Amino acid sequence: MSDNSRLRIAIQKSGRLSDDSIALLKAIGIKLNIRDRLLIAHSTNENIDLLRVRDDDIPGLVMDGVVDMGFIGENELEEKMLERQAAGKAADFEVLRRLDYGGCRLSLAVPTEMDYNGAASLGGKKVATTYPYLLERYFKEQGINAKAVMLTGSVEVAPRAGVADAICDLVSTGATLEANGLQEEEVIFRSKAVLIQRADGELSAEKQALINRLVPRIDGVIQAKESKYIMLHAPKAYLEQVKSLLPGAENPTVLPLAGSDDTVAIHVVSPENLFWETMEKLKALGCSSILVMPIEKMMG
Ligand code: ATP
Ligand code: MG
Repeated sequence: MSDNSRLRIAIQKSGRLSDDSIALLKAIGIKLNIRDRLLIAHSTNENIDLLRVRDDDIPGLVMDGVVDMGFIGENELEEKMLERQAAGKAADFEVLRRLDYGGCRLSLAVPTEMDYNGAASLGGKKVATTYPYLLERYFKEQGINAKAVMLTGSVEVAPRAGVADAICDLVSTGATLEANGLQEEEVIFRSKAVLIQRADGELSAEKQALINRLVPRIDGVIQAKESKYIMLHAPKAYLEQVKSLLPGAENPTVLPLAGSDDTVAIHVVSPENLFWETMEKLKALGCSSILVMPIEKMMG
């Protein structure tokens, strides 16, 4: 049994969420010693252990209080919540943050040759999916009498194999659907990765304090990724025009430039990227040395 005083975080062992989740933990200052074959990874600088498991197991581990936190796709989380509710099991958790990776959608797709006129066309048909609870909730909301057929893999080949008439699967680009002669018709759920925490009131004060210290760091990393540090030289006479071109720059730092009376240096943290078009407009106003730089961390 591992040390119960250490915060336990579940992450996907290998798959689409693994790399980004580990990168986020590292970015908030958690040093990790991950060995590929091992289920547990210990942090070397914080009281944190990682439990590396299949993503399907993560919602249940958090809801059962086996781990304190988990990184999971909303699709998997919502499906497991519906499954547990249907079975009369506890399904408590708290979403701490919606993250900026793992984006995908759960969509209904039908064979291109099928005569499709809205979701009602699926009445009386079978739809293969790994997410039967999400799909049946959709059917119910739409008043469609169709059947969800559970498949844990190869969902996209089900219609060709004669196992189902249509599918409901995760899509990001749509390339897999196209390669299998399927046409995406309805988005039934939009998903991103989220960080969740157990909500059974059993967290110790020490663990909660650690979580409260880590979450603002996550905000800082996400905010920093979306922001840029912009520096440029601008003619003093056009200061107001220049400011109005810079996104979110109500209060830029304006500094004198040595040896020049009519030019100033402007520094600003922008909440968004600076487009080439804006840079061209700044240049046309007489600005020079326009630099757009990434920000690694932000606070307060
Ligand atoms: P595991 O072995 O852990 O069960 P898996 O095969 O179920 O892995 P992955 O394919 O790695 O899972 O996907 C994990 C999660 O990544 C999905 O549940 C979803 O939230 C997210 N995701 C993002 N883009 C996609 C996509 N194009 N297809 C599938 N999942 C995606
Ligand atoms: Mg899985």
